[in-house]
Amino acid sequence: MQLYLRIFIALTALALVGASPALGAHPASPCPTLDASMSYQRATLMDHVCFHVAAPEDPAHRAKKPAELPATLDWQEAGGHDLVFSHTDSVYWVHLHLTNSSEKRGFWYLKLNYPLLDDVTFWQDGTSTSSTLVTGDQHPFLSRGIDYRYFLLPVTLGPGDEQEITLRIRSSGALNVPLSLETPGALIAESNHLTLTHGLFYGALLVFAVFNLLLFISSGTAYYFHNAFYMASMGIFLFAMGGFANQYFWPDSIGYANTSIPLLIALCALSMTLFGRSFLEVSPGTLSATTLTALGWASAGLLAMTFLLPYNKSILLNTLLALTVISSLFLIGILRWRQGYAPALWYVLAWSVMLVGTLIYSLAAFGYLTDFLAREFFMLIAIGAQVILLNYAMVQRWRLLNQKLLHVEHNARSELELKVHERTAQLRNTMEELEKANRKLATMSLNDALTGLYNRRHLDNVLPELCAESRRTGQPLTLALVDADHFKNINDTWGHGFGDLCLQRIADVLWRHVKRPRDIAIRFGGEEFALLLPGTSRDGAHLVCQHILDDMQHTSIRTNDGTDVTLTLSAGIAVFAADDHEQTLFQRADDALYQAKASGRNQIAIIDAEIAQ
Ligand code: GH3
Ligand code: MG
Ligand code: MG
Repeated sequence: MQLYLRIFIALTALALVGASPALGAHPASPCPTLDASMSYQRATLMDHVCFHVAAPEDPAHRAKKPAELPATLDWQEAGGHDLVFSHTDSVYWVHLHLTNSSEKRGFWYLKLNYPLLDDVTFWQDGTSTSSTLVTGDQHPFLSRGIDYRYFLLPVTLGPGDEQEITLRIRSSGALNVPLSLETPGALIAESNHLTLTHGLFYGALLVFAVFNLLLFISSGTAYYFHNAFYMASMGIFLFAMGGFANQYFWPDSIGYANTSIPLLIALCALSMTLFGRSFLEVSPGTLSATTLTALGWASAGLLAMTFLLPYNKSILLNTLLALTVISSLFLIGILRWRQGYAPALWYVLAWSVMLVGTLIYSLAAFGYLTDFLAREFFMLIAIGAQVILLNYAMVQRWRLLNQKLLHVEHNARSELELKVHERTAQLRNTMEELEKANRKLATMSLNDALTGLYNRRHLDNVLPELCAESRRTGQPLTLALVDADHFKNINDTWGHGFGDLCLQRIADVLWRHVKRPRDIAIRFGGEEFALLLPGTSRDGAHLVCQHILDDMQHTSIRTNDGTDVTLTLSAGIAVFAADDHEQTLFQRADDALYQAKASGRNQIAIIDAEIAQ
């Protein structure tokens, strides 16, 4: 549809030009006159433009102004296409014939939308005006007259006026001559839109760069710095490419514009390499790491070389370097992604956008794509998308690190909990064992190992308490001392082992008769026993002892050789008196025992407190 419209407009323009009177200043120019007052003709400006490429041997190459051009110059028609030339040493002559068919005086701007041209001279030769504007980035920015990053030539035409516009362009590097003729209103509107777009773009880039720099300062992580460095260098590069650097950074100096481009490309290549290396966490010693180190040094080297090499050489070398860096990083990104490093996916996506953008840019720079504005706009979108994707990739990387950290923390906490649990269980077990051991120890310390009866220590513990209790309550407390009769004979006759067995049998007898819960049977010496009988009277104790003695003399104990042996016991009883002391009680019982022994053994004696005194 657009093609048909273009053809229609071109045909209409041709018809109209055929009817308009020709101007004689450039007799050889075959291009149709452009009626500046007609907007559709202005829209098809390139249908009205003629050009001549003057190679060094061409006389037109030496001509310094239109008047010096040979009379028979071979003008070519642009034929609706933008003028795009790859790098040569030629001089480009461009010619345009303008008229104003309206009845009003008109004012327009001829815009040359490529800020990187070295030398541009505009000649206006018309009915009422004749002027020359010499500019280009080999001249100070201020030479332009109008403070605008693109070249603007004011064109004024009175009613019926005609004007020949001739441009002489010379530049190193690839060359674009995108021309348009615009009303001041359209130019202001377009400039406003562009200002907004550029403001947003460079503003966002600056914010990202500063933000990354702050992240670097607070975290010390190198790749934040490399990202900031990359975005800053990329921003400045685009700023220079867009002509802003000429306008704002060095408006009154020449030369910087040309040197700055390869310089900034090298800077971008260096920052890309550094950022890629730290972001992708390329392990040292691998081929990827070696490649990136080499590219980093190459970038740094070319950066320095830019000051020494001529522009056309350094721009070529730097463009090649940038393409190598971008494609290497792209490949390494894919490699890292395949190796399982998740954030590399976003990096590769970002780089794909960059790769496509650079490809389109390069194609355009070498003359395969034409619409310059769309190209710049495209570049801004590509780089903007790349910057956003790269920052998103960083967020992903940060998320991954955080996840790892959380995982490690979680594991550590679980492990710790498990350990605490284990230790607590161990401690509980140990405590239980200790308690058991303590209980056993306590039992062991208060019991006699041979008979299982209480031992002397227990007697010493409880006797004072029981005496105090009896004193307090008035309840009787009886102590009976029981001793085996002629036990030495048993040992001597049947051996010590049998003696021990007899002692156990005596204990059995005691167990059988000392039954009340508070009664205590004690083995306190070799074959000496004591019975503590709280709440038991003198007669009760006598009865218990009598039962014990009777039981004992009827209990036969078999020796190893089959002999049945019986033994007898003697007992001495004492009852606790209110003014008694433990020792006196004990002494009385012992005395009573002595009495029983002396009276022939196998009997019970009691010594009362009154008698003892
Ligand atoms: P008595 O009728 O006067 O009490 O005479 P006895 O032989 O029983 O008294 P003596 O005090 O002279 O002897 C006590 C004997 O008890 C000495 C020792 O052989 C024996 N004996 C003491 N302790 C143990 C022991 O733990 N096991 C064994 N088998 N014999 C013991
Ligand atoms: Mg004895
Ligand atoms: Mg004895």
